Order: sequence, then structure tokens, then C-alpha cells
Amino acid sequence: MSEHIDLEARYCAQNYHPLPVVLTRAEGAYVWDEDGKKYLDMMSAYSAVSHGHGHKRLVKIVQQQVERLSIVSRAFYTDKLGLFLEKACTLTGQDMALPMNTGAEAVETAIKAARKWAYTVKGVEKDKAEIIACTGNFHGRTTTIVAMSDEPQYKEGFGPYPAGFLLVEYGNIDALEAAINENTAAFLVEPIQGEGGIVVPPEGYLKAAAELCRKNNVLLIADEIQTGLGRTGKLLACEHEDVHPDGLILGKALGGGILPVSMFLARRDVMSVFTPGDHGSTFGGNPLAAAVGLEALNILIEDELPQKSAAMGDYLMGRLRAFDTPLIKNIRGRGLFIGIEVDPALCSAREICESLMQRGLLSKETHETVVRLAPPLIVGQEEIDWAIDQIAEVLEEIDTLRLAS
Ligand SMILES: *Cc1c(COP(=O)(O)O)cnc(C)c1O
Repeated sequence: MSEHIDLEARYCAQNYHPLPVVLTRAEGAYVWDEDGKKYLDMMSAYSAVSHGHGHKRLVKIVQQQVERLSIVSRAFYTDKLGLFLEKACTLTGQDMALPMNTGAEAVETAIKAARKWAYTVKGVEKDKAEIIACTGNFHGRTTTIVAMSDEPQYKEGFGPYPAGFLLVEYGNIDALEAAINENTAAFLVEPIQGEGGIVVPPEGYLKAAAELCRKNNVLLIADEIQTGLGRTGKLLACEHEDVHPDGLILGKALGGGILPVSMFLARRDVMSVFTPGDHGSTFGGNPLAAAVGLEALNILIEDELPQKSAAMGDYLMGRLRAFDTPLIKNIRGRGLFIGIEVDPALCSAREICESLMQRGLLSKETHETVVRLAPPLIVGQEEIDWAIDQIAEVLEEIDTLRLAS
């Protein structure tokens, strides 16, 4: 066992269960371990590395900006933040943005905005505002956000929880309609659930939800931290149903796989609820993050990463669906955001990920039954073909062993 694994076992909180591989460098869609073994990265740091590792343009921007100005806090203006937010707003059709660092912080920002909007614009009675979220959601790990979760492990031992959250079944439009009342501030939803197991809702769900929200003066807030920025084959996953959310949360790939960069974007009347001192972050919107975020957005558009994700994702999905094996229960996703659900009676997703790792393909299970396939969006067809061969062989091996035992 590597000394680095021993060190983490001894000194690092055991809040993750990593695959036993120690990575030391990366380039594009590939990473290398301490022994120099090369792996195709089909995980992309939970979609944070959509641009590929160490993208040349991003590395150059970091180097330039780090020598000029990195952090000043928002006590002052910088020559970077406005340009970054202008780009993000223009691309997504939103009016204003509030920059943060991690996804969870941007979700917290959205919750605060929705509540204050409910009190000051919609006219909800003090402390009565409700936010509706979905079963199976993942919006982050703060104590407020896990209050919205229905995953027992995310919550067990961390209460008491704040009030004001309501869960409805994901994909069920009638449940949403029944849950909305005069105190509803917002409906917070992932267009495709990522950590929940790459769950795609029924066609038309998002569109119907947007219509319900509009009719009832409820904010539709899309958490596109994972689905956004090209991952599902469009710039935003909402675009698959021509939905324009009232609020939008971005993170992960917004930092170009280099820095934590997130933001909440919204209509002007929603964002205008914030006044100086209401909310903030020491590092949120720092010029280094803004420079990287702006370049990450520029690359996304200029290199047509959403289109690449759509084309390569369709190809990968088609090949996977042609697999003939009893181990697979379901294959779902959109663009390069694909989950293979295995039959837990026959094998575990972890077992598949460990076998793939042996062969030089890195992925990670989500829950016990879903193998996630989410390579950097710059991945080429040859790499995808190679990955498909590895997956096919691993499934065959496991099936052969199963039949022999
Ligand atoms: C990852 C993720 C988050 C949380 O982001 P962090 O940067 O880990 O705080 C929130 N929502 C969704 C949909 C995510 O995938």
C-alpha cells in the first residue's frame, strides 16, 4: 500500500472512500499515478474538469493573473469581476450574478435570495417562506442544504435542521402542483440528478414545472452545478426543454478544473433583494477566479464543448445500449453525463469501478448501483472506443465469474 494512502488514512478525516490510486499528474483526459501508470479520467472530478486537465489557455491565464493580482476581497473593485459576470449573464440569459466559490455556497445564496424575494417582493408572511426540493436531490453538504436531502446518510447525526423545506417526488409534476401554496418561494431542481444516480426526469417535466412556477409566482431555480456548462450536450441542461429558469446555480466546471468558482444568477428583481452586508464571501469573485472563470466560459464556446459533449455522448450511449448483459439494468443520461445502473443482485458498481481502474480507466460509483461515466468534454472518439472495450470486458469477466460460481 502506498505511503500516501497510509498518511491520508491516518491524518485525513475519513469522509470519502477513494479508489486505491494515488494520482500525481494529469493532462487532457488522462491522469497518472505515482508509479507512472496512465488512466483515462471518466470521472472529471464530478464534472469539474470538463475542459480537461491543465488546459493550456487556462494555465496561461492563471500564470498571468497570479503575477498581477489574485485576491483583494470585494471591499474593492477589480478589473476582472465585471467582465466575468457580464459573460456569464450574457451566455445564460440572466440579468445579474453573485459570485461564490463552492457549489454549496452558491446554493445557500440561492436559498437566501429566494427567501428574501418571497418576503420583500411576493409578500409572504415573515418566516413562512417555503422552498420545494425533490426526492433524491443533491445540492451540497452544509447543514441547511442537507436539511433538504432525503438520503439518510447525509443527515444522520447532523440535526437539528432548519425549517422551511418541502420534498416532492422528482419527476412527478402533480406532486409539485399539490405542494405549491401561497408561501412557496421557490422550486429548487436539478434538470438531471447527478449524485442521485444520473436520473433523467420524464420528458416535459421541467417545462411543466416552469409553467406551474410562472402561474403561481414561484421562482424556478435550476441547480446546474453539475449539468451546466456543456455537460449534457447543451450549454445548460434546461435548454433541452427550452426552459429559462428564474434563478440558476453554476459551479464545478466554471472554475475550468483549476479553481473553485461558483455563482448564483437570477433576474434583476430577484438579485436586487441583496443589499450591502446581506451576504458575502471573502474569496467569492476574486480576480484570479474571475479571470479563470471568464476564460473557461470563452473556451467552452469557442471550442464548442457542448456540441462535442452531445456528439460523443450520443455515440457512447448508443454503444453502451447495444451491450447484451444481464448485469445492466438501465443506462441513462444525456451528453457525456451517463450512468450505468447495474443489478445489485449480480454485482456492485464499486466492483466494476475497481476492475476498470486495474485496466486504466477511472470512474466512480454513485450510490451502490450506478457507474458514472463523465469524461472531460474534450475526450476523443478513440479514447471513448477504448473505454467501451474496457467496460465490455469487465462486464464479461464479472458475468463469467458469476456463472462459474
Ligand atoms: C456538486 C454539486 C453541488 C455542491 O457543490 P460543491 O462544490 O461540492 O459544494 C451542488 N449541487 C449539485 C447538483 C452538485 O452536483
